Amino acid sequence: MLIWKIQPPSVFRRFFVSKKSMKKSDNKQKPAFFLDRDGTVCEEVGYLSDIRNLRLIAGSAEAIRRINNNNWKVVIITNQSGVSKGYMDEETVRQINDALLEMLREENVRVDGIYYCPHHLQGNPPYNISCECRKPASGMLRQASKDLDIDIRRSVLVGDKLTDVETANRLDIPGILVRTGFGREESRSLISPVLTRPPAYIAEDLLDAVRWWYNRKS
Ligand SMILES: [Mg+2]
Ligand SMILES: [Zn+2]
Repeated sequence: MLIWKIQPPSVFRRFFVSKKSMKKSDNKQKPAFFLDRDGTVCEEVGYLSDIRNLRLIAGSAEAIRRINNNNWKVVIITNQSGVSKGYMDEETVRQINDALLEMLREENVRVDGIYYCPHHLQGNPPYNISCECRKPASGMLRQASKDLDIDIRRSVLVGDKLTDVETANRLDIPGILVRTGFGREESRSLISPVLTRPPAYIAEDLLDAVRWWYNRKS
């Protein structure tokens, strides 16, 4: 059954949410793992615009399975400024998101939502705006928390860029940097004006990040 629908193209539709996950079946909020997409869940290939270049990073499905088994939500949050720069349109972003979800479904793991930001100040109209969704701004996480009934204060974020970690810092939640994607390079420059606080942990990859999180003593 297809629970993810491709939304009609609209410049104003930034977010993409599963209707099923939106149902509030109980009023107890769950925490979430917020996951960056490119370089964290799937391979970083530089403005992924061709579905044939979509590949899961080894261990990603297993990592998400562990999150599922801990009864936490999983939300993918991705900056897709390639839209604003004219490298791809939003329909392409949605198709790639759908394909990624399908790959994960085939691995029998569940993702509760995918949100993307198509904006960039140096991009083309109508996308060249100062938005609240482009990481390190926290708009996508705040929107997801509303849509999916997430307890953001108990949540955690994983990404391969310092801007991902800074997104977590701005929400005062732990930000984990992975060494996949841009992460190996990013982990060499942790003293950066981008970053107000270092990562909570530097993981080899998403699976290592999730293992560390659920095994930590605190
Ligand atoms: Mg990334
Ligand atoms: Zn945006």
